[in-house]
Amino acid sequence: MTSKATDQASGGPIISIENLTKSYGYGDAESFALNNFSLEVKRGEFIMIMGPSGCGKTTLLNIIGLLDKPTSGSFLLNGEPVNSISARKKAHLRAKKIGFVFQNFNLIPTLPVIENVALPLVYSSVTQTNRLIQASDTLSRFHLQEREYYMPHQLSGGQQQRVAIARSLVMKPEIILADEPTGNLDSRSSHIVMEELKSIHSEGNTIIMVTHNPSLTTYATRVINMLDGHIDTDIKTVADRDLPIPIHVRLGKKEQKKKRSKSKKKGGKK
Ligand code: ADP
Ligand code: MG
Repeated sequence: MTSKATDQASGGPIISIENLTKSYGYGDAESFALNNFSLEVKRGEFIMIMGPSGCGKTTLLNIIGLLDKPTSGSFLLNGEPVNSISARKKAHLRAKKIGFVFQNFNLIPTLPVIENVALPLVYSSVTQTNRLIQASDTLSRFHLQEREYYMPHQLSGGQQQRVAIARSLVMKPEIILADEPTGNLDSRSSHIVMEELKSIHSEGNTIIMVTHNPSLTTYATRVINMLDGHIDTDIKTVADRDLPIPIHVRLGKKEQKKKRSKSKKKGGKK
């Protein structure tokens, strides 16, 4: 990390989007999924995005998650312009910085839970044994350690979504993008999943979540209503100064190191 990036890591906005446009089709048939969309996201925000079907919510998450490209406009991630970087660097950034959670869980049905969770680590330099240890650690945080060798179909919807959240977190990303994560869950499971997201947020992670359920907005620090590819209303319910501070910023470098070696000695257990 350059010193400039370190400055960014503690201070500037984590996401900065200006005049973003995403259009499909040409000429008379051109339609806009995002239309001159601008948004600045601070570290530690928990943003909920609402709005009618087709207003551009998924398009926005996919662009922020580097899965899709805007037609025009600028997008900075940690102060770095990402529109023009190579596909390889994008994939690397995506794997390291961003965790995804989807409405239909997107677990791989032929892999046991623990291997699903370890999957994002395949692209890192971690050995297979360590990948499974890290996956197991993450699962125990979600109280799913007894289900490690279950297949996804043997779990309830709520459990599958918690596995998917564990998978999104295993690389310790800074940003979690969740597209209607409770859309297929009953209210009890929704509540459990939201409590998990809340605890991830309290550790200083930035979360952007799409939902149709207005009652979930109590978890958010900011609620954005979209309409026809732009922001209709944008309400912060928590002041910027009261947002949680990321753990890696809270602890100094030395303390982080100490914590890491301590947890290694204990065999990775917390
Ligand atoms: P939301 O998630 O809010 O329901 P989307 O971001 O999925 O909305 O879609 C926004 C608009 O962009 C919709 O009108 C949709 O039909 C259009 N759209 C999305 N993806 C494509 C695509 N691949 N080709 C053409 N139009 C698309
Ligand atoms: Mg959508």
